[in-house]
Amino acid sequence: LSYLWNQGENGICCPMGMTFASVGALRHDPALAAEWEPLIMRAGYDSRPIHARDKSAITVGMAMTEKQGGSDLRKTQSTARPAGSRTGSGADYLITGHKWFFSVPMSDVFLTLAQTENGVSCFLAPGWLPDGSRNNLRIQRLKEKCGNRSNASSEVEFKDLHAVMVGPEGRGIRTIIEMAHYTRLDFAVGSSGLMRQALVQALHHTSSRTSFGERIIDQPVMANVAADLAVESEAQMWLGMRLACTLDHQDTSEHERLLSRIATPMAKYWSCKQAPMFVVEALECHGGNGFIEDHLMARLYREAPLNGIWEGTGNIICLDVVRAVQREPATVDAVMEEIRQGLSDDPGLAVHADDLEKRLRRLPDNQGEARHTVEVMAHTLQASLLRRYAPAAVSDAFLASRLNGHWGRAFGTLPGGMDTRAIIERARVQA
Ligand SMILES: Cc1cc2nc3c(=O)[nH]c(=O)nc-3n(C[C@H](O)[C@H](O)[C@H](O)COP(=O)(O)OP(=O)(O)OC[C@H]3O[C@@H](n4cnc5c(N)ncnc54)[C@H](O)[C@@H]3O)c2cc1C
Repeated sequence: LSYLWNQGENGICCPMGMTFASVGALRHDPALAAEWEPLIMRAGYDSRPIHARDKSAITVGMAMTEKQGGSDLRKTQSTARPAGSRTGSGADYLITGHKWFFSVPMSDVFLTLAQTENGVSCFLAPGWLPDGSRNNLRIQRLKEKCGNRSNASSEVEFKDLHAVMVGPEGRGIRTIIEMAHYTRLDFAVGSSGLMRQALVQALHHTSSRTSFGERIIDQPVMANVAADLAVESEAQMWLGMRLACTLDHQDTSEHERLLSRIATPMAKYWSCKQAPMFVVEALECHGGNGFIEDHLMARLYREAPLNGIWEGTGNIICLDVVRAVQREPATVDAVMEEIRQGLSDDPGLAVHADDLEKRLRRLPDNQGEARHTVEVMAHTLQASLLRRYAPAAVSDAFLASRLNGHWGRAFGTLPGGMDTRAIIERARVQA
C-alpha cells in the first residue's frame, strides 16, 4: 500500500509511516502497546484536537533531532524529571528542551528522547492532555522546506511536557531505533514508489509525442533510457517487497529476522540514493515541460532527495549495516543464503556472490568501504530477486549492466542486444 500511495502523494506518507513504525518501539513496553496499539491499528483519521484516548483512531509522530545533531542522538540535551504521579501504565515525567525537527506536530501522540540521570531515554507524549488543553509544547515555526510541502515539519520547545517512559531507562536510543527500522523500510518502499511514478510519467510522455517523424520512445536512444529506468524501477520494487515480507515472518523465522536486520538499511540506502538521479532522468524525458512547475515532475524532483536524509542519512545507514555485521555475523549468512537462492543456475553470478561475501566479512575492519559494499549487496540481492520473479528480458538487462560491468554512468547505457521493447511493454500501465 505504501508503494502505491507514494506514487500519488508523498507528504501524507510521513505520518502514515511513523504511525505504522511506532508499534516496533511501543512493543518494548507491553502495557503501553496494549493501551495504544488498538487505536493505532484502527482505520480512519480523527482530526479533533482532543486527548488521544478519546479518539476513534490516532497518528503517531517522533521528535528526536535537536539542533546540535540528528545522527548522533547521544548528544540529546532535553531533560526529563519524574512528575511524581502515574498515568495508566507508567510513571509520569516532565520534559524540557528543544527539538529542531518535528514533523506532523499535530500527531495525537509522539515518541521523543530526553536525558534522565541514567542517560538518554525514550518517552511517549500525548499532543493534548486529558482536560483537552495542548500538552506543554510550543511550535516556534514551520520549516520552509524545498519539497514535501504537504507535510508540516516544525521546530518546537518543550516546557514540562507530560510524557511516560517507553522501554528501559537510559536505553532510549535502542528503543526508538526499533521504530526507525520500520520507517527505513517505509522509505525504501516509498522511494521505489516515487521512482515508479516518475517512470510512468516518462513512458506516457515519450509514447504520446513524436520527434523526427516517430514516437520518441521508439527511437533507439530513448528506448534505452526508458528500458534502463524500467529495469531500475522493477529492481527497487522487488527489493522493497521482499523486505516488507520479512517483517511478516520475523517472529517465526530466524532467516527472515536476520535478513530484515541487514537488508532493510541497505534498501533504505540504495533506493533513496537512486531516486534523485532516476527522477532527474525521467524529468529530462519530458524535455522543457518537465521543468515547469505546472507539471508533476517538478514536485517529484523536489521530493526525491528527502528520503535519503530523514531516518538516517546515507552514511549513518551504511554504518547501521556495519553494526549489523559486527553484532550479528549471522546476518551475512542470511543475506548470502537469500542471494544464492536466485543465482544457483548461474555460475557467473556465483562469482559476484562470493565477492560480496568477502566484502561483507571484512566490513567491520574496513568501514570506509561501507557505501561501496552496501551498493554491491543491493545489486547482488536485486539480481537474485529479478532472476526469481521477473522475466528474462528484465533480469538479463539488470545483470549485464549492474553486475557484469556493461553499463555507463548515467541511465540509458544498457549494452546492445537487450530486449528493450519487452522491458518497456512490461513497465507500461495496462489499461
Ligand atoms: C523534512 C524533514 C523532516 C524531518 N522530520 C523529523 C522528525 O519528524 N523527527 C525527527 O526527529 N527528525 C526529523 N528530521 C531530521 C532528520 O532525521 C535529520 O536531519 C537527520 O537525521 C540528520 O541529522 P542532522 O540534520 O543533524 O545532520 P548531521 O547529523 O549533522 O549530519 C550531517 C552529515 O554528516 C554525516 N555524518 C554524521 N555522522 C557521521 C559519521 N559518524 N560518519 C560519517 N558521516 C557522518 C551525515 O551522513 C550527514 O551527511 C527531519 C528532516 C527533514 C529534512
